[in-house]
Amino acid sequence: MPLGFLKSARESNRPVPQPEGPAPLVRSDRSEVLGEVEELGIGMFWATDAEGRLTFLSKRALVELGSEAESLIGNAITQVFQDVEAEDGAPTQRSLAFKLKARSKLEEQIVAVPTARGSTRWWRLNGRPLLDAQDNFRGYRGSAVDISAQYAYETQVARQSQVDELTGLANRRKLGERLKAMLSAFRVSQRSCALMMLDLDRFKQVNDTMGHPAGDELLKQVAQRLSSIVKDYGEVGRLGGDEFQVLLPDMDDRGTLGELANRIVQSLSQPYQINGRRAIIGTSVGIAIAPYDGLEADELTRSADMALYSAKETRGGTFCFFTSELRDAASKTAMLGDRLRDAVDRDELKLAYQPLVDPATNEVKCFEALLRWHDEEEGDISPALFIPVAENDDLIIRIGEMALRQACIDALSWPETIKVAVNVSAKQFIRPGYRKAVAAALQASGLPPGRLELEITESVFVGDLETVDAIFRDLKKLGVRLALDDFGTGYSSLGYLKHGHFNKIKIDQSFVRGCTENGDINPAIITAIVALAKALGMETVAEGVEAMDELELVRERGADLVQGYIYSRPLTQEQVLTQIADGTMKCNPDGPPRHRAERITIFRKVGLIHEDHYYDVILRNLSKTGARITGLAGVPVGTDVVLDLGHGQLVVSKVVNATENSQGLKFETPLISDGSGGFMTRHRISPYSLAEAGIPLAALGAGAFPLAKWREAHKSVPKFVQMDLSI
Ligand code: C2E
Ligand code: MG
Ligand code: MG
Repeated sequence: MPLGFLKSARESNRPVPQPEGPAPLVRSDRSEVLGEVEELGIGMFWATDAEGRLTFLSKRALVELGSEAESLIGNAITQVFQDVEAEDGAPTQRSLAFKLKARSKLEEQIVAVPTARGSTRWWRLNGRPLLDAQDNFRGYRGSAVDISAQYAYETQVARQSQVDELTGLANRRKLGERLKAMLSAFRVSQRSCALMMLDLDRFKQVNDTMGHPAGDELLKQVAQRLSSIVKDYGEVGRLGGDEFQVLLPDMDDRGTLGELANRIVQSLSQPYQINGRRAIIGTSVGIAIAPYDGLEADELTRSADMALYSAKETRGGTFCFFTSELRDAASKTAMLGDRLRDAVDRDELKLAYQPLVDPATNEVKCFEALLRWHDEEEGDISPALFIPVAENDDLIIRIGEMALRQACIDALSWPETIKVAVNVSAKQFIRPGYRKAVAAALQASGLPPGRLELEITESVFVGDLETVDAIFRDLKKLGVRLALDDFGTGYSSLGYLKHGHFNKIKIDQSFVRGCTENGDINPAIITAIVALAKALGMETVAEGVEAMDELELVRERGADLVQGYIYSRPLTQEQVLTQIADGTMKCNPDGPPRHRAERITIFRKVGLIHEDHYYDVILRNLSKTGARITGLAGVPVGTDVVLDLGHGQLVVSKVVNATENSQGLKFETPLISDGSGGFMTRHRISPYSLAEAGIPLAALGAGAFPLAKWREAHKSVPKFVQMDLSI
């Protein structure tokens, strides 16, 4: 027997069926096509007439198809042998019909063959057109090999290399290729493209407590939610683990991107149902935009990663845009971690106590313990900065327990009517030994449990909620009180309030500050939270009250307690003891009569363009709608200027008030929030237009395309007096 036939028999990956039954009835002359191979039932052969109808199928082919010859002979060959399509529906080769019509040779044509058993096999066809003596086309003659096993394997490999098996989203490889292709095409056509990087907050916890299958199920649901939000805007993929990515072509409006990121954060933090149990996770999002934050895929990805890292650092459950300051911040954070560890070893972290006051009587009811860290070189470092760093490793446990022990001891020297509130990081809270640590701190100090209040943020309601519930029950058994901190900022799921774990809700500062401004929706939110808390038997605290009109508003809306600079900044234990010794258990409100629009106080060198001259100025403060600058003398009110905040952020402004060397600017278009407490412009001038102005694209690093470069080529006569900014 010729060896070639053995090979094809092997390739079919199936045992060779023994010839059985009578030979099929065929119209064409079988001896012309077959020979001894057909007799043995090994090879698969076929033939058509000039109209493309099957005239012959060898016995083996019929066995494979599970059909009788009668049911197939006479059918169009394209009905029996069907074209295969790729994953995305695109054809993988020229169609069989096309080739037959063109009467071209068939070489390794792969077809799908439905069998009578309802399954599909994949065959590889070879064939050639047959001409008679007069050169008339008489049909095709050909052979077939079953390649089903190999085909299934190959398509799976192809699929695996493009698609994430678990979620069906694009995988890392496909995303990488898409991003590269998109960026190089967009560079030619000067289009923009945003890249969002997502990382789930506390996914690991679900995986650990509920098991890997539950984790997998959660990832699938996340993928679905993400796809339904992103829909037509762009492409979603999973990079692996709990990391997802979104590619958004032609997106550079940071306002729109921020809104989209917000919707993603909100949606992914709604509860999930997994095998009858509830789980909650959060997500952080980092956003970078080409060409501003990177021209190449690598660079853009790094920028988005850095933004993600910063979002996670801030507090998780937020989004963050890339800025070039982040690059410096990332290395600073690493250093901060080392410094913090040393400071803890040397016992340099202290506690400050801020009063919570009853606004009806001005009596102090409680002090909140707040960590303070004074670093020799850096000065005072805010807990908002170092707590997230500590949360990156187990340092938070040490710091948290230290704060807990110290606060209990300090509180014992206060009048019995005054409670102490201690902040608890979610990571600390969900750790198995936490209840014990609380019990130990109470016992060591002798503080009655009812005087200790633990402040917990919504971020503990993630992961497996039944485990979280059990921790709450355990703590309540100890007799301590629980407060929900920063209410309204986090995972916005109210379900957990109903469990009755909390004695107190602290309304976040962001609802309080500015609540007296016209048209603000926050007073309505405050009223609603107070009503909800009352209905559920909880006390309310308004956080961050600074101005008299805010105090008036929260008092009128029924907040039980007020905490804020209006009553007192955080005090040292000595100051507290002095006040108590004076018998001044009361605090009197003292602050500005009205809230002023949020201004970020800064001291930063920026640029100012007037007519065609570029000046250096110092930015003193910045709000959404305006700024104050110093560094120029004699600029009259009404002057039109353009403020250059760096990185392509140009703000068209008007001078609305001026002293000799300082000016107040009003912006033509308000800035937008950058998601982490700062402001930024909605759009940036594109590096492409700078390139047109003569600055080569290659010379522009990520996020760095200062107009100052333009100014060097642009010597002009100043109209105002530039002061020396170096002093
Ligand atoms: P928090 O628990 O919401 O604490 C309130 C923060 O608001 C404190 O900031 C306080 O100084 C500030 N604040 C109070 N009234 C006003 C006001 O009228 N205006 C303004 N602008 N701010 C006001 P601080 O001390 O910087 O703490 C920041 C955050 O750091 C705290 O927010 C808390 O989440 C965290 N933190 C502080 N101490 C600890 C701790 O011992 N453990 C843990 N896990 N977190 C802590
Ligand atoms: Mg707190
Ligand atoms: Mg708070």
